[in-house]
Amino acid sequence: MSLQDPDCIFCKIIAGEIPCHKLYEDDHTFAFLDIGPLAKGHCLVIPKDHHATLATMPPELAGKCMETVTRLANAVMASLPGVDAYNVLQNNGEVAGQVVPHVHFHIIPRTEADGLGYRWNAGQLDADDAESLKSAIVDQLTG
Ligand code: 5GP
Ligand code: ZN
Repeated sequence: MSLQDPDCIFCKIIAGEIPCHKLYEDDHTFAFLDIGPLAKGHCLVIPKDHHATLATMPPELAGKCMETVTRLANAVMASLPGVDAYNVLQNNGEVAGQVVPHVHFHIIPRTEADGLGYRWNAGQLDADDAESLKSAIVDQLTG
């Protein structure tokens, strides 16, 4: 582990300076129960290196986080009788709802009765916008 922010609450949790209910740890990732769960079993997977957002995170490390997310989500589902659905949520940036500036992936178990709902105000993709967007994004990826 190399990157740490001494003022970061999640770095302090990884270091054991703030207690948590730890679920899993390996060389690169760490997982624990969320202190303010949206649903029973709500937990968080974080990289051990401090990155405020995905923007600075090496894709390989994001991949390791997703390995932990998939394995942990299966364990969470298996430990909650009758629950087999969940959301993986990653708030990236304050405007997107991120409060703790250390990358984290929420695993949120879902049931019909949880009342959480799902706001998905779908628009309609405009054909011209789609072409220019596609060009701009592909240029960034390949340029
Ligand atoms: P965000 O809004 O940044 O995506 O989510 C941050 C999450 O971290 C919230 O769900 C919040 O409950 C959780 N959280 C914040 N501080 C602590 C803490 O000290 N311990 C634990 N276990 N979770 C925390
Ligand atoms: Zn941190």
